[in-house]
Amino acid sequence: TDADMHAEVVVLGSGPGGYTAAFRAADLGKQVILIERYQRIGGVCLNVGCIPSKALLHTAQVLNETKHMAQNGVSFGEPKIDLRKLADWKDSVVGKLTGGLQGLAKQRKVTVVHGVGEFAGPNALKVTTDDGVKTISFDNCIIAAGSRVTKIPVFPNDDPRMMDSTDALELEDIPKRLLVIGGGIIGLEMATVYNALGSKISVVELQDSLIPGADKDIVKPLFNRIKEQYEAIYLNTKVSKIEPLKSGLKVTFEGDNAPEPQTFDKILVAVGRSPNGKLINAEAAGVAVNDYGFIEVNKQMQTNVPHIYAIGDIVGQPMLAHKATHEGKVAAEHITGRKVAFDAMTIPSVAYTDPEVAWMGMSEDEAKKQGVDYVKGAFPWAASGRSLSLDRDEGLTKALFEKETGKLIGAGIVGPNAGELIAEAVLALEMGADAEDIGLSIHPHPTLSETFAFAAEMAEGNITDLM
Ligand code: FAD
Repeated sequence: TDADMHAEVVVLGSGPGGYTAAFRAADLGKQVILIERYQRIGGVCLNVGCIPSKALLHTAQVLNETKHMAQNGVSFGEPKIDLRKLADWKDSVVGKLTGGLQGLAKQRKVTVVHGVGEFAGPNALKVTTDDGVKTISFDNCIIAAGSRVTKIPVFPNDDPRMMDSTDALELEDIPKRLLVIGGGIIGLEMATVYNALGSKISVVELQDSLIPGADKDIVKPLFNRIKEQYEAIYLNTKVSKIEPLKSGLKVTFEGDNAPEPQTFDKILVAVGRSPNGKLINAEAAGVAVNDYGFIEVNKQMQTNVPHIYAIGDIVGQPMLAHKATHEGKVAAEHITGRKVAFDAMTIPSVAYTDPEVAWMGMSEDEAKKQGVDYVKGAFPWAASGRSLSLDRDEGLTKALFEKETGKLIGAGIVGPNAGELIAEAVLALEMGADAEDIGLSIHPHPTLSETFAFAAEMAEGNITDLM
């Protein structure tokens, strides 16, 4: 052919899905090219997502805890924040990881091509690089082009005071009054950061609860805590207009409890992410993309064109890094002839707010909707010695079991470190554990992890098989 380059496997996009797939395919003996439009590989997660946000959330936690300790006899005085130094540290964390990935790519002889890729046919991509357009042909392709921030077109998005999550992570300044539009995970994580750094925060959410998708009882402790710390939280409310004025951004709200128009110094819009399916000329390869821009795949991660696979944010919800990596492995292994399927029993979700909110398996709302006969064990952290030692009592661990068999079907945890704790519930679900298995497993004392065993014990008495 007249292609400039050829690879057995070409991966489009170097996020957690793409680099995992590329590395796995290379480890299994394939010759691999990884295409990435940005200079740094690692995608949204490493560069402008999971990792930089967690570095800043750690900072928020230190600020919150040291401030709080004044009540208990230890004061540190007013924190002095050197924003540039903080941003540099955050960037250095990202740098270590993306640099590490580059090394791993080299070790595995994965060729990284920097440029914007789009399909030129069912076996070729056109990549626009700094030295012109290159055609790369492939036997198999894995689309891992991810997602981008969703913009609301009627907002004055070009105003420098309007931020998306990427802008917010830059830490340009600490606005006096910050409005966060969207009470989902990303909006609330960035609200946590800016609140700790000293901004007055208002959050506006269209739905009747923050973090829609999680059960209300595990969101409530977060809501109650941040309600005290933030200027305002408006639920069931919509932002209908934003006017850029010299004095700030004037915001008009809509809804039954909508406040009067107000002016904010900056606004963070965090209303979701849109898949990049329509930006890669997929039709040239015959790959079907739906109206939203998602690419549909089977359990082997194959698109409607069987030698072309798709993984990660571009194939659907939940848009999470750990889903993308697992899908990436499945795609790479299937290409190399292994009998595999993406068949997770659950994909856990975590909001790394303060307190953290984490859930997995079936939510209680879903169980009710589906008419599942379940038993609930719920252990309040006000009775956990470890939680009280952290001077925190708002947490809750809840576990849902099938009434007949006692098998775990879902769990939700809110409290410090809930994101770490939920992993045990995921393992229990994948292993088919029942309430007795969990209750009988000796957990170290005093830990927050005990609360999961206590929740299971509380449910045991109501499980048919154990009665
Ligand atoms: P992406 O990470 O989106 O990577 C796609 C890559 O493809 C990008 O590097 C892009 O430049 C490249 N690309 C796209 N099109 C082309 C093209 N045509 N040519 C060349 N290159 C292209 N998830 C979690 O699980 N935990 C978290 O804590 C978490 N925190 C987050 C915080 C924020 C602020 C944000 C925005 C997201 C967060 N996420 C988190 C979500 C997570 O980042 C994504 O789910 C994950 O990055 C998806 O991986 P992916 O491989 O599908 O694609």
